Amino acid sequence: MPLTALGSTAAGPPGRQRDPRPDPRRAPVAPAATIAATLLLNATYEPLGVVSSRRAIVLVLAGKAEPVDVSDVLCHAELIALPVPVVVRLTRFVRVPYPAQVPLSRRAVFTRDGSTCVYCGAPATSIDHVWPRSRGGTHTWDNVVAACRRCNHTKADRSLAELGWSLPQPPRAPSGSAWRMLGHRAVDPRWRTWLGLADPGTA
Ligand SMILES: [Zn+2]
Repeated sequence: MPLTALGSTAAGPPGRQRDPRPDPRRAPVAPAATIAATLLLNATYEPLGVVSSRRAIVLVLAGKAEPVDVSDVLCHAELIALPVPVVVRLTRFVRVPYPAQVPLSRRAVFTRDGSTCVYCGAPATSIDHVWPRSRGGTHTWDNVVAACRRCNHTKADRSLAELGWSLPQPPRAPSGSAWRMLGHRAVDPRWRTWLGLADPGTA
């Protein structure tokens, strides 16, 4: 099949529409690659989101994106074989409106706090409300931290002052483009550089 036909399937804004239903005779990607995910960067290298690797390949073949990092897996079209991209970057800048604040979720709190208990450093297993909910504490970024079961149980409905405990730093809402996609899915370790996440233990 000619590449021009592949390119025609990528019309419209990237990553925002459903992939067209693949025709098995025309699908450019091997089955294993179609279920993989690719990090999509804006032309400015700002992370935009995650798309299927099949969609990423369609974008690359259409000239709408270029590979930034690729896997060892090759996908075979009729005329070419190219590595399945791990990260792609749009060739043209797109402007995307974003919510003002990162949605609060268990995964996002764990990621912010490195998946460790803020009180003792043990692996975190739960979310703790610093000022207890039973005493009017809010379920907001500045009042939630990752905690281990033991600390959470010990703390119960007491405040830090009552326990003589302290926090390494006040909890804050995370900011930055990388955070927009956290809380929705697991992070591929190969995306971390582009997401500004240094510690491989925080996914
Ligand atoms: Zn703890």
